[in-house]
Amino acid sequence: MQVHLSHHITSIDRPNRVFHHIRGKTPGATIVFFAGIHGNEFAGVNALNSVLSVLNEDEVSGEIIGVYGNIKALKANKRFIAQDLNRVWTSKHLEDLKHQENPKNELLEQRDLFKFIDGLLASTDQPIYFIDLHTTSSKTLPFITINDAMINRKFSTCFGIPVVLGIEEYLDGPLLSYLNTLGYVSLGFESGQHEDPAAIKNCEAFIFLALGHAGLLKQPDQKKVKWYQNVLKLATKDISTTFEVIYKYDIKPNEDFKMLNGFVSFQYIKKGTHLANSDDQPIHAQYTAKLFMPLYQKTGSDGFFIIRHIPRFFLKLSEFLRNIKADELLTFLPGITWYNKAEGILKANLTVARFLTKSIFHLFGYRNKQLDQTHLLLYNRERVSRKTMYKNEKWY
Ligand SMILES: [Zn+2]
Repeated sequence: MQVHLSHHITSIDRPNRVFHHIRGKTPGATIVFFAGIHGNEFAGVNALNSVLSVLNEDEVSGEIIGVYGNIKALKANKRFIAQDLNRVWTSKHLEDLKHQENPKNELLEQRDLFKFIDGLLASTDQPIYFIDLHTTSSKTLPFITINDAMINRKFSTCFGIPVVLGIEEYLDGPLLSYLNTLGYVSLGFESGQHEDPAAIKNCEAFIFLALGHAGLLKQPDQKKVKWYQNVLKLATKDISTTFEVIYKYDIKPNEDFKMLNGFVSFQYIKKGTHLANSDDQPIHAQYTAKLFMPLYQKTGSDGFFIIRHIPRFFLKLSEFLRNIKADELLTFLPGITWYNKAEGILKANLTVARFLTKSIFHLFGYRNKQLDQTHLLLYNRERVSRKTMYKNEKWY
């Protein structure tokens, strides 16, 4: 069923970027929901409208803020106008943005969002939660996506739904990665397929439960809590596993990529499965694992991802290693040096350290980005994460 979601925003000439703001009468955490960072994804906008419009300041401790992402693209019902607003949050982009006299399209949107974030961070020393609401082009179970920091893992496991970590290794400049480098809890929530009405319902459930877990609701209505937990439990088919991304198919600029019909996200596939065609050549799965976010729209360069579940033992082990800051030991290995210790960035010389597999670094919380032919930079979210800010939160 096709539903038209965009009417209310297209009918407003210049909508305020902050379209919901509830300031509770008692102090507390701030939670920010971004909706429509991709302009063809309206579930978040609709879900925020329905959940937040019935809340009042007497029921709230702290602040709840709903923010439009890409306003121009939302009006046009397109993923983006000139460039993807969720791929421009690198330090280089932000530096370039400072020198833009007359930014247009996504650069203008980004400048406004940057100002909003900057202003917010300066205005409070209470815990801040950033939640980015999305939908996908393929059918999918609802899921959370996070950068792999312990504060994100802990908060996201409150929901009892699938959590996918490590996507930051495959994407440049998503908004969440930027917020993570600042040290805040930041979660992405993908609520379902773009036009599926269930994506709105799932998103409503997630928003309401997030308010509860982050302590924004003084007395959460227990009937509603149960109801929404059940919505997500049914929608996720009771899967609450933690997965990690192990592969992305990257579409080249002039490549004619076409996913074969009928694949869904989280579908189990066998190695060798014919998944897509590239310039009429077949693309086969290189893993027996789960397919993740196969691309069924024309825009975007991520063809599909492959994920696999992380055994509990490894989740526990990595938590332990991070708690004791065992990554200090990595620098005793040949070819591994600190690139920036305060920011938790290691540099690996691949000609020396090629015996080390990615998964070892993942255990310690490092995700890599290729620096040049022979060097990798490894980023750790733990050293920058503001653990003390969250230490009194009930989920911590
Ligand atoms: Zn999106």
